[in-house]
Amino acid sequence: MKKAVKTTCPYCGVGCGVIATVAEDGGVSVRGDPDHPSNYGRLCSKGSALAETIDLDGRLLHPEIGGRQASWDEALDLVAGKFAAAIAEHGPDSVAFYVSGQLLTEDYYVANKLMKGFFGSANIDTNSRLCMSSSVAGHRRAFGADTVPGTYEDLELADLVILTGSNLAWCHPVLYQRVAAAKEKRPGMKIVVIDPRRTMTADVADLHLAIRPDTDVALFAGLFSHLVSNNAVDQNYVAAHTSGFADAFAAAGTVSFGEVLERTGLAAMQLREFYRLFTTTEKVVTCYSQGVNQSSSGTDKVNAILNCHLATGRIGRPGTGPFSLTGQPNAMGGREVGGLANMLAAHMALEDAGDRDRVRRFWGSPVIAEKPGLKAVDLFRAVADGSIKALWIMATNPVVSMPDADAVEAAIRACPFVVVSDVLKETDTTRNAHVLMPSLGWGEKSGTVTNSERRISRQRAFLDAPGEARADWWQLAEVARRMGFAEDFAYAAPSEIFSEHAALSAFENAGSRDFDIGAHAGLAEDAYDGLAPFQWPQPAGRARAETRFFADGGFYHADGKARFVAVEPTETNRTDADHPFTLNTGRIRDQWHTMTRTGKSARLSSHIAEPFAELHPRDAMEIGVGNAGLVEIESPQGRAVVRALITGRQARGSIFAPMHWNDRFAAKARIDAVVPAVTDRFSGQPASKNVAVAARPFKVR
Ligand code: SF4
Repeated sequence: MKKAVKTTCPYCGVGCGVIATVAEDGGVSVRGDPDHPSNYGRLCSKGSALAETIDLDGRLLHPEIGGRQASWDEALDLVAGKFAAAIAEHGPDSVAFYVSGQLLTEDYYVANKLMKGFFGSANIDTNSRLCMSSSVAGHRRAFGADTVPGTYEDLELADLVILTGSNLAWCHPVLYQRVAAAKEKRPGMKIVVIDPRRTMTADVADLHLAIRPDTDVALFAGLFSHLVSNNAVDQNYVAAHTSGFADAFAAAGTVSFGEVLERTGLAAMQLREFYRLFTTTEKVVTCYSQGVNQSSSGTDKVNAILNCHLATGRIGRPGTGPFSLTGQPNAMGGREVGGLANMLAAHMALEDAGDRDRVRRFWGSPVIAEKPGLKAVDLFRAVADGSIKALWIMATNPVVSMPDADAVEAAIRACPFVVVSDVLKETDTTRNAHVLMPSLGWGEKSGTVTNSERRISRQRAFLDAPGEARADWWQLAEVARRMGFAEDFAYAAPSEIFSEHAALSAFENAGSRDFDIGAHAGLAEDAYDGLAPFQWPQPAGRARAETRFFADGGFYHADGKARFVAVEPTETNRTDADHPFTLNTGRIRDQWHTMTRTGKSARLSSHIAEPFAELHPRDAMEIGVGNAGLVEIESPQGRAVVRALITGRQARGSIFAPMHWNDRFAAKARIDAVVPAVTDRFSGQPASKNVAVAARPFKVR
């Protein structure tokens, strides 16, 4: 008999509902869930091809130690022993977890609890650091907490949608479809795209601002100044609900229209039109994604945007607000349970002694991390310098996705003990591990994820676990049990973990912060199985969730106000005579991350089959490379060799290259080997854009 199961797409942060149907012969088909409020039945190319990516080819099906098959007991005993020994000999900060926005919330919760509450270190960071941590830091500075105020519906209600650093059409395709459909219904709705490259998203824009990389702070500081000089500031809102306006204006007011033109490279007419649209349109939503976050000034960029929304009071109302789009399916879930080195759990603050004590008492844990741990780039530096003696990597492939990827691989190779939990046997990262632990994949695992608009949805299993693969939370709990914490990690099912997470979110005054999902504390297994998608918060006793934050003008700083942040443009040109081009990395439409799943679908590869570097025709001519010729991209960090794609979509002097391919596809295909490990000073997020590189035709040496 056929079986149809409602679940959630495991790719981007839109979080589309999927109905997976398993036929009698075991064949799987997928379609969009018409009842899911994120997508109402739509799926993009990646979501539609999910059934083509779930075969067992290349799967890791058994634990391995040193390349030989081992029993679970043997592998878990070894991992527990090595972590215990490292902690005993070198202290808790000698161990680290590097986890992933691919983990389910329940996996994330257990990993965070074990590291922070039982090892006593905060050395747990995630590949979400590479995705949205500048937004987290910007939200905390402005709002006093990491809260995304908006909903997808706001994008449909807005009269002006600004997409900055976001190729929505390729990176959040179903949300793009919703915006495009809204614009078709209401032709008066305007779309402004801010991106150095003419992306597919820019094709639908009323105005495309091809700014120079990393000049967003100048653009939005100039807008802030323009709002003031044109009496467009909502003085009542600013007085009642914000602080810091004068300091922010003192910084932004020095950024003249002429300086913005000079920094951004825009034409005066374009800039004037953008400022006019923002000033005269009441319902404005500004979406931002990796083009904003993945920058050495990412947090300042976020706050420059937030300043403009706060100055106009365009936040907390339908069709208005700043909106950070998460890249990964569960980047938001990781934030909720504190799966970052500088966060605690349930949105409580690691730097707050009261919060630390509250979480420790709730967990009944012997210790609690006292200080922030190592963020992704610093974490791998600590691996490289020998400070980390035992490292556990879960559901991610840092040898391909981290900046300065060659150095990351060398660090992992040199680490005394490395465990990797993954679905695949052969990745650039697994080949460097001492112990491999087989994890469950999409369709096999069960839990929850949270999308960009704070909507929690179930991922449900519809396939049997293959071989000896087990859930990541189970692996963590088994290691915890072997380290003497059996009672604290005695979970029999993910529902029990979700229930505990919900209870913690409502524990003592944690609930007063409006993040709690206490309505789901003590949830029975069958209720968890039937859990319909909902947005947090959902405290006990409230019939339905609030869907909009800051509607009453209240924020989370001690005075209840939002804060303007004084931001100033910084120097952004990194090129020199030897490295005259600016490289931006990003995604393409039909691949996901390092292609360990989407790479299995021939249909998806038919869109773009090979790694490439997109160049302006005149740049290509000057360096002497023809279309589809091989081009070598080099920085002091490393080099990559890919096909040249010559288009007028690139600005002169700039190069775009996707981040998906790895050296298993072709030698020197990893573009992140070229990207240096430069980070934002507030968030620690690596700057995967605006890299100074040389480009030349590839010659066999
Ligand atoms: Fe999956 Fe994102 Fe596509 Fe939706 S838009 S189907 S979540 S990849």
